[in-house]
Amino acid sequence: MRLRLPQRGGGGLFGRRGPLGGGRLAALKVRLAIGAVIALVALVGYFMNTSVNPITGQSQRVGGIDEAQEIQMGLASMQQMAGEFGGESSNAQARALVDQVGRRLLSVVDDVYPKSETIPWQFSFTLLADDQTVNAFALPGGPCFITEALFKRLETEGQLAGVMGHEIGHVIHRHGLERMAKGKLLQGLVGAANVAGGDMGAGQILAVVGNTKMLKYGREDELECDEEGIKLMVAAGYDPRSMIGVMEILKEASGGASPSPEWKSSHPHPENRAQRIEELIATAYPNGLPQGLRR
Ligand SMILES: [Zn+2]
Repeated sequence: MRLRLPQRGGGGLFGRRGPLGGGRLAALKVRLAIGAVIALVALVGYFMNTSVNPITGQSQRVGGIDEAQEIQMGLASMQQMAGEFGGESSNAQARALVDQVGRRLLSVVDDVYPKSETIPWQFSFTLLADDQTVNAFALPGGPCFITEALFKRLETEGQLAGVMGHEIGHVIHRHGLERMAKGKLLQGLVGAANVAGGDMGAGQILAVVGNTKMLKYGREDELECDEEGIKLMVAAGYDPRSMIGVMEILKEASGGASPSPEWKSSHPHPENRAQRIEELIATAYPNGLPQGLRR
């Protein structure tokens, strides 16, 4: 809902026709008060709505959405998302491999998080027919996808595990919901600023600042998922250094024309990520990686 207040005398915060008159000052006070209430409601809604992640045990702000609603959201948008990338691949063998690697990673979540509850989400691993867009992504509640364009470029099963492990990470960390909750908060604050500032465009400025901030959080999410992917890979018997190969493949692919939301534009530079992955491996396994991992 958008509040519109009567504006006498063409009023912005500083009206075009000189200093604040008595009537205008009263109107400004009302605007500021209403703006403050709207901002407060948005802030309280965001900060009071925390829930504990059943796998990681972290406290998260996900806008009060529970796992059942989350699963429902993913299932409801699954079909349409798949449709945007040519639907499911017709290559049965490749489809089976994607599913098998995804399930294998899922089966070790307990090893990575020994104190976790049973996985509440409904995971699925779908190979999409699109052979032009190099991409992989996940929806809230469990559906994970990889396009044929990315799948075909991968050289080893370990690299596929790297991609799928990263996507499983987005689901486990509930990044989609976190971003939605932040979006809702931002919308509330923009509304508040618009009311308080009259025609000053304060809301627009806040929207720009907020969006930039959110992009930064997005990148942190990506790095968190790379770390998650590494842990799942090692627990499932894959060599996490295969992730570095994935980054090289992405670097090569980014020379192409087709933009892909998940693995290109929203992700940090593959070069930085490759370096960060090497650091993560060195930190997580200071005495070296276990023997016999598959590439
Ligand atoms: Zn990602």
